[in-house]
Amino acid sequence: MDHAATTPLHPAVTEAMLPYLGERFGNPSSVYTEGREARRAVEEARARVAGALGADPSEVFFTSGGTEADNLAIIGVARALRERGDHVVTTAVEHHAVLEPCRYLEKNGYRVTYLPVDGTGMVDPDEVRRAITPGTILVSVMHANNEVGTIQPVEEISTICREAGVYFHCDAVQTVGALEVNVDRLGADLLSVSAHKLYGPKGVGCLYVRRGTEITSLILGGGQEKGMRSGTENVAGIVGFGVAMELAAAEWRERSEHVRPLRDRLVEGILGSIPRSSLNGHPERRLPNNANFIFDFIEGEAICLRLDFLGIAASTGSACSSERGEASHVLLALGIPPERAHGSLRLTLGRENTEEDVDYLLENLPRVVEDLRAMSPLA
Ligand code: PLP
Repeated sequence: MDHAATTPLHPAVTEAMLPYLGERFGNPSSVYTEGREARRAVEEARARVAGALGADPSEVFFTSGGTEADNLAIIGVARALRERGDHVVTTAVEHHAVLEPCRYLEKNGYRVTYLPVDGTGMVDPDEVRRAITPGTILVSVMHANNEVGTIQPVEEISTICREAGVYFHCDAVQTVGALEVNVDRLGADLLSVSAHKLYGPKGVGCLYVRRGTEITSLILGGGQEKGMRSGTENVAGIVGFGVAMELAAAEWRERSEHVRPLRDRLVEGILGSIPRSSLNGHPERRLPNNANFIFDFIEGEAICLRLDFLGIAASTGSACSSERGEASHVLLALGIPPERAHGSLRLTLGRENTEEDVDYLLENLPRVVEDLRAMSPLA
């Protein structure tokens, strides 16, 4: 129940990748047959990814995943437009893959505005409008939040950016395969995607860059990806990503319809059976597979460890914040006090989850929470 962290490979993805982990090992830059075969596979995958996003293949640049795509978008645009401006607008609830490049820019003479969100995690488009100044070069707002699942009003925000002549970047890492992600409908000039969140392999993703967008590369070398991202291509990963994207575009509705009722049962069951529990994020405008709770008086980490004993994989929120042991910056931005924010549990469902899985969690979680509360001096 932690599909926001990662997903298993779709069987069709594994099947498509296997030849490229075996006999088809050519380097796409080589002129001989094996190289040309690898090049063809990479370009076919690029066409699949572009098709899924409603983009042109020339606008898709493969990266090592969502983190690199976010870094490239933010630092790449900021460097390219340094003469024109020094200001970036983003939100307090972005993934660290966006926030850290923004902090890096601040250390290097740029200004960054971190917009607040309301209690459900939503950004107010009017705040974006007010934050844009003549020196603003980029606005970066995620499509949906990885911790609490809140879906941002991206279309409204991108319209404001277009009218102001400012580039709009969207981190869509959590939404491809769960919602419709079409670059024109979202109005994105740049959009980040990661394969391992959509039943593709880890370590591969892409940045969509609308034709004509000014951006500089961060990784220099042999000039692969039209000079945007040097380094020999991860051919097997890219092939798997292409297939995963095609499936995501074809199946996102069906996948959502599978997880939404399971998620709703989880939410109802948990709030109905566990006292002092609450749901974080927006009640309706949220990812169909996401449920994020707070259980007062106990630590989310402790709940996760107890659930792990029972064979249930769950998380407190983002993988990064659990490693650092700090309260989630997302929950704090929602106005939740730190002592409560430590009691978070995120359950994110996927293709393989069943009603039995939900029942098993609902049978066990109330006892886990009760046991932990019995040991908690706060309770
Ligand atoms: N952006 C968001 C919203 C994410 O949830 C994640 C991963 O958790 C990333 C970026 C980073 O993606 P990757 O794991 O491919 O580097």
